[in-house]
Amino acid sequence: MLTARFRKAGLRVTPQRQAIFRLLHGVDTHPTVDALYEAARAELPTISRRTVYQTVHDLESMGEVELLDVGTGSLRVDPNVEKVHQHLVCRRCGTVRDLMLDVADLRLPARYRERFTVEGVEVVFRGVCDDCAANDTSP
Ligand SMILES: [Zn+2]
Ligand SMILES: [Zn+2]
Repeated sequence: MLTARFRKAGLRVTPQRQAIFRLLHGVDTHPTVDALYEAARAELPTISRRTVYQTVHDLESMGEVELLDVGTGSLRVDPNVEKVHQHLVCRRCGTVRDLMLDVADLRLPARYRERFTVEGVEVVFRGVCDDCAANDTSP
């Protein structure tokens, strides 16, 4: 659990941090740090935005979450670091969903490989989610 790993990393497990762990546990909604802050504040009205940011960055340096920039304007917190996955991004509401897609066969063409070392591949499918499509009136 995150709490144990936080202790192991020599970081204190405060009620604020615990609230953030709980909020992130098992979610696949990729909240923004601000959304996480709002949710944490509902539980702990005195929590500061700074604490939430700091905790998220601590978790990132421990490899417990990934901070994604999928072009929605703010970083998204992704606690699903166990399984390599890609994302579906709705251009209307900014919803980010996990996409299990094998990209292991995706290779950089040889002429780029000489001048570039690949460390990872990110694939983003952009479009409109079903909720937005259902409410659709304008393009
Ligand atoms: Zn949408
Ligand atoms: Zn994800």
